[in-house]
Amino acid sequence: MTLNSLESDAMRPDVAIVGAGLAGRLLAWRLARDGLRVALFERGDPHGRAAAAWVAAAMLAPLAEAAVAEPLLVALGEASLGRWPRWLAELPAPVYFQRNGTLVVWHAADQADATLFQRRVMANAPASMRDGRIATLDGAGLARVEPALGGRFQQGWLLDGEGQLDNRQLLAALDLALAAHGVPIHAGVAVDADNWPDAGLTIDCRGLGARPSLPGLRGIRGEVVRVAAPGIGLQRPVRLLHPRYPIYIAPKQQDRYVIGATEIESDDDSPVSVRSALELLSAAFSVHPGFGEARILELNSQCRPTLADQRPAIVFDAAAYAPGGAGAGTGRERAPRFAVNGLYRHGFMIAPEVVNEAATLARVLLDHPRDACAGFAAWHAATPWPELASGVRFPAASGDADRHPDAARRSGASAPAAVDHSSPTDRFPCRS
Ligand SMILES: Cc1cc2nc3c(=O)[nH]c(=O)nc-3n(C[C@H](O)[C@H](O)[C@H](O)COP(=O)(O)OP(=O)(O)OC[C@H]3O[C@@H](n4cnc5c(N)ncnc54)[C@H](O)[C@@H]3O)c2cc1C
Repeated sequence: MTLNSLESDAMRPDVAIVGAGLAGRLLAWRLARDGLRVALFERGDPHGRAAAAWVAAAMLAPLAEAAVAEPLLVALGEASLGRWPRWLAELPAPVYFQRNGTLVVWHAADQADATLFQRRVMANAPASMRDGRIATLDGAGLARVEPALGGRFQQGWLLDGEGQLDNRQLLAALDLALAAHGVPIHAGVAVDADNWPDAGLTIDCRGLGARPSLPGLRGIRGEVVRVAAPGIGLQRPVRLLHPRYPIYIAPKQQDRYVIGATEIESDDDSPVSVRSALELLSAAFSVHPGFGEARILELNSQCRPTLADQRPAIVFDAAAYAPGGAGAGTGRERAPRFAVNGLYRHGFMIAPEVVNEAATLARVLLDHPRDACAGFAAWHAATPWPELASGVRFPAASGDADRHPDAARRSGASAPAAVDHSSPTDRFPCRS
């Protein structure tokens, strides 16, 4: 099917979603299960192999990530952890999901990294999240919790309740769910400003492919190794703190492990470098010598879609829909559009909350076909995550939204914090 063949009203979807990676696929499913007519467009294959989501380790570890992520991300991750099991239970095929916690270990010489990790977690994760969930382990405790590492490390932390899932099982289960709801995936179709699909609402979930529309969007290259290592038996993701080669090892089903990941400021999605492969595998070998006999199943790389402030964003250019704005006119050219992007290294960790908000916004915009700005303002006033709003140039009357109580509460400010939507440079402008 071509984009043009959607032009008859009978076939016009309520929502067209561009990009069938993590955000696009989840969002299409959530909207389709509400009875909306959804079409999904993907420039790669229909299974998601072109997406960052295909390569990811899919750890759901807001406490461990607090060492590198600000409180907003940590809070989104914590809320999403609660939502994932409910969503997975609705899918027509099982998806491997566990909440066995994260184990953090380090070699004695790297104590300074452990101290830094601890300080950052304390700073970015609220006490309510930390209390009772961080167990300090000595060698014996570590051997009890994770027998495979007994005798190998003399100290560690167990971060209770952290999770992970199987990314590829999730993408496949979403395929089935979409098919069951009659959502077509138009694969092999690269969509850009010249061939934007016609629909009541369009949602840009192109990840890094949205660079032409979202100035400031960049890639952060990540490389991983997938191995089969029977006999090691790790029961949960393990993070090795190291000044030069920090890694994680995420055990999946059937003795498969994802070892990752490099973090390189680059849009380069070429194959894994020899250096990265050596570093990742050497570090894994230092965690457990059994990885020396592992079989390499795959070396893979992808770039994480990252915004300047490394936050996720729901990007809506309200000014384009204001009277006299760029979207002014009649008929279909006024159909609203927004983008979901900037999921960076936390896409799986935060997707349920971000996608839930995007789905809510989509429904509200469809309910306000003649005034997208009013729709957006209504969503923004009600969302528990107003910080997600980005690229917004609100015409007047948005002052109330600028002092959103949920954002103020999370920022810990005694006076309400201002979310400045006044400037088109607020985070970055949305262009189409
Ligand atoms: C090595 C690595 C490890 C990671 N590990 C984790 C982890 O452990 N936990 C975690 O939470 N997150 C992790 N992530 C991050 C996570 O994978 C991303 O945040 C997430 O996949 C981003 O979702 P997205 O839908 O925005 O982009 P993507 O998943 O990349 O999907 C975008 C889709 O849009 C398509 N597209 C692009 N341009 C066009 C176009 N013009 N027309 C049509 N389609 C287009 C692409 O082909 C792609 O399928 C990891 C990422 C990497 C690379």
